[in-house]
Amino acid sequence: METQNEYHSKCVIIGSGPAGYTAAIYAARAALQPIMITGMEQGGQLMTTTDVENYPGYPDGRTGPEMMDDFRKQAERFGTKIYFQHVDRVELQSNPKRIFTDAGQEFTADSVIVATGATAKWLNLESEQRLRLQGGGVSACAVCDGFFYKGLDVAVVGAGDSAAEEATYLSNLCKNVHLLVRKEEMRASKIMQQRVFNSKNIHVHWNSVTKEVVGKDQVTGVKIENVQNSEVTEIPVQGFFLAIGHKPNTDVFKGHLEMDEIGYLVTKGKSTRTNIPGVFASGDVQDSVYRQAVTAAGTGCMAALDAERWLKEEGLI
Ligand code: NDP
Repeated sequence: METQNEYHSKCVIIGSGPAGYTAAIYAARAALQPIMITGMEQGGQLMTTTDVENYPGYPDGRTGPEMMDDFRKQAERFGTKIYFQHVDRVELQSNPKRIFTDAGQEFTADSVIVATGATAKWLNLESEQRLRLQGGGVSACAVCDGFFYKGLDVAVVGAGDSAAEEATYLSNLCKNVHLLVRKEEMRASKIMQQRVFNSKNIHVHWNSVTKEVVGKDQVTGVKIENVQNSEVTEIPVQGFFLAIGHKPNTDVFKGHLEMDEIGYLVTKGKSTRTNIPGVFASGDVQDSVYRQAVTAAGTGCMAALDAERWLKEEGLI
């Protein structure tokens, strides 16, 4: 029996990045009267991005926060109810599904779309965070921000596939790419490493840890220490990229939803279905490969369509 209260919805969306908002727009237009629970970082990773120039439909670019504001307005225009709360517990096997927040609120849902995203890992150096937050040349996404460093020198930290991929990508745009590897080997697949070694303008600094990102308002260099001889050197760069992995925001779903070894939610085939009927996953929380606003939005649309179909099949709408 459908519970008619303001905290029940045919479709509850958890998370408020491009995937969550797009799911909300589609679910609202399908008359599912969705509820969105934003999470602590309303707007997701784009809230700490300066200019977004690769999202179709914005020929002059838009800042991340402005774009997320547009997404929110569009979702609200069709009747999405938005709650600025953080989910801290779920019961997804029950019918309806139950979602509890840090505000002490319980929501119930016939279907749930998880769009909680992933968080880039940072070194958490004071200089890195200061320059990142003031848009001064620190980024965790080469595809998003590499263009701003065309013809300039940049550093990339990391030694996995992401670091190899980002360094290679940047080497086609930038004058020099300094890849900072903390050990004497890379974890990246052999073929990706080979691409790095074959690029004449990628300089690998082995056994090197970052001590400081140098610059007052804008990155001007990076201080690195060689862990074998403790020698500290400063490399002049204008951009500093992190590629040391992402953490999918799935802690609250542990023991409920199927995940891979890193914690990304597993979806079935070409759909957004999870292992629990009526629960769907979209955006970076289930995608460790593409991680773009536009791909997240695409899977948000898919999740809303999948949810609508499932609700019909179950006779819930
Ligand atoms: P990984 O976890 O694979 O690698 C993280 C890298 O960052 C490691 O080399 C690690 O170093 C380094 N690192 C971690 N912390 C620090 C630190 N504090 N200082 C310096 N270096 C640090 O993450 P990725 O994002 O690279 O990859 C995640 C997953 O996505 C992998 O499964 C990968 O294969 C996949 N992927 C696939 C791609 C493709 O196929 N095209 C592209 C990108 C990712 P250390 O080795 O010393 O621990």
